[in-house]
Amino acid sequence: KLTGKQTRAWLLNFSAKIQEKKQDLNDLDQAIGDGDHGSNMARGVHAVEEAIKNENHTPASEILKKAAMAMVSKVGGASGPLYGTAFLEMAKVIDTEELPTVLAAGLDGVKKRSKADADEKTMADMWAPVVKALQEKKLTKDVINESVEATKELKATKGRASYLNEGSIGHLDPGSVSSSYLFFALLEEVD
Ligand code: ADP
Ligand code: MG
Ligand code: MG
Repeated sequence: KLTGKQTRAWLLNFSAKIQEKKQDLNDLDQAIGDGDHGSNMARGVHAVEEAIKNENHTPASEILKKAAMAMVSKVGGASGPLYGTAFLEMAKVIDTEELPTVLAAGLDGVKKRSKADADEKTMADMWAPVVKALQEKKLTKDVINESVEATKELKATKGRASYLNEGSIGHLDPGSVSSSYLFFALLEEVD
């Protein structure tokens, strides 16, 4: 199980990675969207940081709730409510359940909110294999990288990238790349 301290460190690590990759994420979104995914996420995680930085003795569930509110209220783009719902669904179980169950709840939240099926080139396509690997105790950096790479060949049928239709094929899904930083940060926290 993740403690409040670990959860806070996880999200602060995620925030640092997003801010470092802000331009890359904008560039990826420029190719198949409107070029703002890095800026959206950077604004969101900055608000997350502000909300949790002094929460040293707060339960994990409260940390995630604060993070969810920050993402929903500050991100603006489609990704805000998706991360917000993921964090909120994880908040409901993180104090009592083990990590794989927590991330599975997050994935359910993403799916519920996104209305996307598998292979629609959204965050859900990246989360699904990662959560499965976590459940099988096989989650590694390679699994995360492969899950992101696998979005490349998919044709977007949800979100802005779907306007490009076939043109979205051959490009990474920006939201899946930002999600990979959430999982890299998690691996660093639990290793
Ligand atoms: P916007 O598209 O509003 O500019 P962002 O650029 O911040 O928002 O986020 C784009 C990312 O959001 C996409 O790369 C994709 O991963 C994710 N996304 C968009 N729509 C959906 C959806 N319906 N379901 C799941 N993920 C989605
Ligand atoms: Mg965008
Ligand atoms: Mg936008």
